[in-house]
Amino acid sequence: MNNLVVITGANRGIGLALSQQFLAQGDKVVALCRKTSTELTQLAATNELKIVENIDVATAQGIDNLTTALSGVQVDVLVCNAGILRDESLTDFNTETIREQFEVNALAPLSVAHALQTNLVSGSKIAMITSRMGSIEDNTSGGRYGYRMSKAALNIASVSLAKDLEGSGIAVGIYHPGYVQTDMVNYGGDISSNECAGKLVSLINSLTMAESGVFKHSNGSLLPW
Ligand code: NDP
Repeated sequence: MNNLVVITGANRGIGLALSQQFLAQGDKVVALCRKTSTELTQLAATNELKIVENIDVATAQGIDNLTTALSGVQVDVLVCNAGILRDESLTDFNTETIREQFEVNALAPLSVAHALQTNLVSGSKIAMITSRMGSIEDNTSGGRYGYRMSKAALNIASVSLAKDLEGSGIAVGIYHPGYVQTDMVNYGGDISSNECAGKLVSLINSLTMAESGVFKHSNGSLLPW
């Protein structure tokens, strides 16, 4: 496709698999991470992939490093994928982990999109990797306060982004990857990160302005807010 794709949290899990899939269809990838991995470094050795380390998306320094690294670079696709999952319940309450998830899962993707605004052009796309656990209607089991709250916040922020960027011709997709075999879920998911990334890449490829702000499962079905 020959797009320039920027991915956060690209050193492992879904972010790494997304890097592989975008490269496979002929795109160039800028892989953002805090620290590279053996797999990502190997991928860069034989592909049009540039690794940018020291991008902690939840810190002002990380956002600064990001704008410096991408200064003057046109970004066709921005994938905000980095995220964390902690656990809290009424019997094991922890405001620190709730706050931490809010910083990484909600505030950071919005800050990344804000920081790269001038790198995006008409026709560029932003993909927010959220979770159906941020769906209010889909919440039938409770708990997971910080994760659910942070992903719900990401969802509403992404809808605002979609509205605000409409006039600039920039589409925003909000995607639940499915239950994916990564470290986040102790590799207990239903689908591999490669399968998930393949589905996400085809959804991003087909994202149009007409459906900007859409909240979809990687299987293509619409999710309730
Ligand atoms: P992993 O735990 O395998 O990977 C998480 C990635 O996020 C890592 O690259 C990690 O980097 C990065 N990351 C975490 N915090 C930061 C930070 N502060 N700055 C920069 N990078 C950071 O998880 P997945 O690949 O499974 O998750 C990817 C996305 O998919 C997340 O947003 C997650 O919420 C979402 N998701 C995943 C599901 C699943 O079943 N796996 C289900 C629903 C949603 P590092 O190596 O430095 O920690």
